Amino acid sequence: MILTILGARGPYPTKNEATSGYLLKTESANILIDCGSGVLSKLLNYITYDDISFIICSHLHADHTSDLGVLRYYFASRGKEIDLFIPSEPQEEYNLIRKGVYKIKNIEENLQTQIGSVKLSFFEGQHPYRSFAVRIEEEGKAFVFSGDTGYKEDFAVFCSGADLLLLNAAYTDEEVEKIEEPKRYHMSPKQAAKVAKEAKAKLLVLTHLKPECDEQKHLASAKEIFDNVVLATKEKIIEF
Ligand SMILES: [Zn+2]
Repeated sequence: MILTILGARGPYPTKNEATSGYLLKTESANILIDCGSGVLSKLLNYITYDDISFIICSHLHADHTSDLGVLRYYFASRGKEIDLFIPSEPQEEYNLIRKGVYKIKNIEENLQTQIGSVKLSFFEGQHPYRSFAVRIEEEGKAFVFSGDTGYKEDFAVFCSGADLLLLNAAYTDEEVEKIEEPKRYHMSPKQAAKVAKEAKAKLLVLTHLKPECDEQKHLASAKEIFDNVVLATKEKIIEF
């Protein structure tokens, strides 16, 4: 599989950097995961809109979905449709997105499905909007993207043995300590590293980096717990 980081910032973009968006190329599919602000203009460096096999959005916050609004115009102008996996809540955001070209597949807790030879499974996170992690497997390779979520004890089981774990680490370790449960809606570098260690993952990629993130501190903090970790810096390409 090949993961291309199209955007890793949140909750808003920085200069020349998009919010959440990733292209996962498997043997049989080009999967667009999240479609935040600025993601499409990055995507076109690698594939065309017609090359997208299907889209998965972890949740309906705008930094993960905002480019869906304009991608609609491309497919509508060509009379085409495309499969889109999204949660069905909140209703207002859902109704805005589901119009027109998108063939909606609702993500539900513990959903497992298959598209061709690509196996998909979902895990519900802890976030103010319902947010889901996705595990994508094909031909012996496994990839997990966390979506937005606070640390959950049982998440490591879902991530078990993944070749690449792409986990949100929007909080700093200091920040997460100041927030009371259950209002922890993102992980810190140390929490993400703990998941990777428990899951016995091969590689951890930290993402959803805030514009003010001290990147070297973030990375060093995760490395204290899990050695094979990198940051989802702009347009990084990782083959695994
Ligand atoms: Zn969010």
